[in-house]
Amino acid sequence: MAALDFLAQLTGSFALAAAGNPTVAMIEAAYRHHNLHWRYINCEVTPEHLGDAVRGARAMGWAGFNCSLPHKVAVIPLLDGLGESAAIMGAVNCAVRRGGAYIGENTDGKGFLKSLDGVVSPNGKRVVLLGAGGAARAVAVELALAGAHSIMVVNRDARRGADLVDLLNVHTPARGDLQVWRGTQGIPEGTDIVVNCTSVGLFPDVDARLDIDIRTLRPGMVVADVVPSPPRTRLIRDAEAAGCTVIDGLGMLVNQGVISIKYWTGVDVDASVMRKKVGEIYGV
Ligand code: NDP
Repeated sequence: MAALDFLAQLTGSFALAAAGNPTVAMIEAAYRHHNLHWRYINCEVTPEHLGDAVRGARAMGWAGFNCSLPHKVAVIPLLDGLGESAAIMGAVNCAVRRGGAYIGENTDGKGFLKSLDGVVSPNGKRVVLLGAGGAARAVAVELALAGAHSIMVVNRDARRGADLVDLLNVHTPARGDLQVWRGTQGIPEGTDIVVNCTSVGLFPDVDARLDIDIRTLRPGMVVADVVPSPPRTRLIRDAEAAGCTVIDGLGMLVNQGVISIKYWTGVDVDASVMRKKVGEIYGV
């Protein structure tokens, strides 16, 4: 019975790449800190085995699991329902067992929103969002549902950008506009929040610079980067030098974990414990 109880408290993570995963380290750090008798384990699951993995999680009574690319969309038909923002985004990074059902949530965007706490409220704000991939969709939808006035999506691939703008205009109260990224992009005056949701700056291309006119970053703007590794991206350094308030990608990473743990266990864990753990891993 003890063994069954242990299995029932497993949470999980389905991913293609596993070893040395910072998410595992920070979630296990929270479990240890709060004396929670839970485990978070990372399993390498290939696309053809995703169905078996979800059936296995059900059979073993897992409290839930995270899934990363390429499973975020493919997992949806294997679940029993979706939370509001996950349904709008059409992507799930966190499955939560409620009653006997697995419900798909998306904690990426919610984690980003949480990282704004105490810095800026999105309500009524004008946002420039760089990128239109998975992270951008999650961040854009949550900013829109949190009351952002408008979101200008800047993306090289016009079709991908237009899909995100349509999603905002059809499914959220915020106004979405598209700026196709051609050449050096200026940030319009009156912008309150700039978010980099591209992969520019992600390890190992740590010195890569976004093609934006950094003279248009002004004091008073909040500049956030979702790139977690390294946390002090070129954009963060440029924005700091321009007098902007900055938020690094560890805020989103840590807070999506805090929200996932709350969904699975019902416990509000101490974000600073998790931030410290990922800080150690990334050397900040
Ligand atoms: P996707 O592959 O879905 O999207 C990548 C985006 O980056 C696209 O919009 C793409 O534009 C854009 N892009 C790539 N290279 C360039 C470039 N040189 N110039 C301009 N735009 C570029 O990736 P994700 O959305 O999943 O991930 C994006 C970033 O978000 C990654 O760095 C990832 O680590 C981070 N992330 C962070 C999380 C956190 O918790 N902190 C959680 C999830 C993601 P185009 O469409 O034109 O090709």
